[in-house]
Amino acid sequence: MHTLTINLARPPAFPLVKSRHVAVVGAGAAGLVAARELRREGHSVVVFERGNEVGGTWVYTHRVEPDPLGIDAARPIVHTSLYSSLRTNLPREVMGFTDFPFMTLAGENRDPRRFPGHREVLMYLKDFAREFGVEEMVRFETEVVKVGILENGKWKVRSKKTIFFNNENNDHYNDDIDIINKNEVELDDEIYDAVVVCNGHYTEPRIAEIPGISLWPGKQMHSHNYRVPESFTGQVVILIGSSSSAVDICRDIAGVAKEVHVASRSVADETYTKQPAYDSLWIHSMIHTAHEDGTVVFRNGKVVLADVIMHCTGYKYHFPFLDTNGIVTVDDNRLGPLYKHLFPPALAPGLSFIGIPWKVVPFPLFEFQSKWIAGVLSGRITLPSQKEMMEDIKAFYSTLEASGVPKRYTHNMGESQFEYNNWLAAQCGCQGIEKWRKQMYLAASANRPLRPDTYRDEWEDHDLVLEAHEDFVKYTS
Ligand code: FAD
Repeated sequence: MHTLTINLARPPAFPLVKSRHVAVVGAGAAGLVAARELRREGHSVVVFERGNEVGGTWVYTHRVEPDPLGIDAARPIVHTSLYSSLRTNLPREVMGFTDFPFMTLAGENRDPRRFPGHREVLMYLKDFAREFGVEEMVRFETEVVKVGILENGKWKVRSKKTIFFNNENNDHYNDDIDIINKNEVELDDEIYDAVVVCNGHYTEPRIAEIPGISLWPGKQMHSHNYRVPESFTGQVVILIGSSSSAVDICRDIAGVAKEVHVASRSVADETYTKQPAYDSLWIHSMIHTAHEDGTVVFRNGKVVLADVIMHCTGYKYHFPFLDTNGIVTVDDNRLGPLYKHLFPPALAPGLSFIGIPWKVVPFPLFEFQSKWIAGVLSGRITLPSQKEMMEDIKAFYSTLEASGVPKRYTHNMGESQFEYNNWLAAQCGCQGIEKWRKQMYLAASANRPLRPDTYRDEWEDHDLVLEAHEDFVKYTS
């Protein structure tokens, strides 16, 4: 990360400490904490949410999209990419917002585990929304379809309120039907001083390119549309990817499938290893080619006759509603230009993005980003000049290039997230990230590859758990 020189001579973009009218797109974890921080700073806030509840990705449904690869731009979108068995891949102490600890709560509906199931995370986010009165700022079932800048520097937000037909069960989100019963739409145009984009980036699938795939007769899908293993019973399944989803899903499916083969980009070409605790789970190097007779050839030379290829190959940043006259673009999964992964210099501070960094602890990072945006919008915190911000971005891109980091890893943070959080905290004049949180994140990251089957139930960082709980007392007593 780069240090910057703040140009104190530059007048703030807005007069000092002023309340702004701000639109937030999305009521997932990012939108919720953004709304809280913006309101705390004195802004008036409207949160647009196309779903009917808060929680974003953590709102699980067994519905999937009709296009299993998610290529058809006109397909009805199912936002979540969660599968039924999903438990968090971070310990709950690390995951929570800094001042609203993700504690184990009593109650028969609550999941007390340290790496809880997805429903517990949704309940935590709902608790957060309730505690801070965020829901009253949210317009549900209202999708933002266009965001564009006006000549006077304000933002026009066009939203679409979907009006639903009731079905027989008087329930328009009936999980047993694939397509929601909906009657279109009421369009609304409104003017805002600023727009904070929090639409998430785990919904628009990225697909691996496989030579020969157009002739291959099997079924292809993306992990976005994976929910439960049953439909893979007795099948030969190839998963592409080595992220947390691939690691989880291959194990989920291995319980019922005839064979599961994982193709990984991050192993040597000759790799062909059987996973010890499983009868038929194999790790290979990447796929070399797919063929008309149903076979798939791996780089290690192995040939597998497969029924299904599942792409666990990640997601694209996607902002179908955003019109910036080409100022902000997505190029090879680099969203830019963005100062500190957040403000496009030419449009700052009126347009900002929360949650673009990946390989991070999302909720606390969203929280620091939100505080910074809120303070910059009120004029309490000053941004450098547009030119300085562009120079900072260029210097950042040059560092990536010089270290051979591909463009698509621009927003991959890993360990540097802590320095980033602390930089944001310093801008805002608030406490940075706790030491125990960083150490616990590192301990969990080290434990995961060592015990891929059991890391959620076996760990050694008991001292850090104690330290976290001592810290939590100041928010819970
Ligand atoms: P989202 O939660 O995706 O919320 C975006 C919201 O915006 C949604 O509610 C959506 O409906 C709404 N929206 C989108 N477009 C529009 C529009 N045009 N108009 C109105 N509303 C719109 N994180 C962890 O901390 N721990 C984990 O263990 C973990 N596991 C994960 C497992 C999987 C499979 C996935 C996909 C993610 C996981 N994450 C995990 C990361 C997770 O995405 C973040 O924790 C976080 O929930 C992202 O929040 P968000 O608000 O940025 O986006």
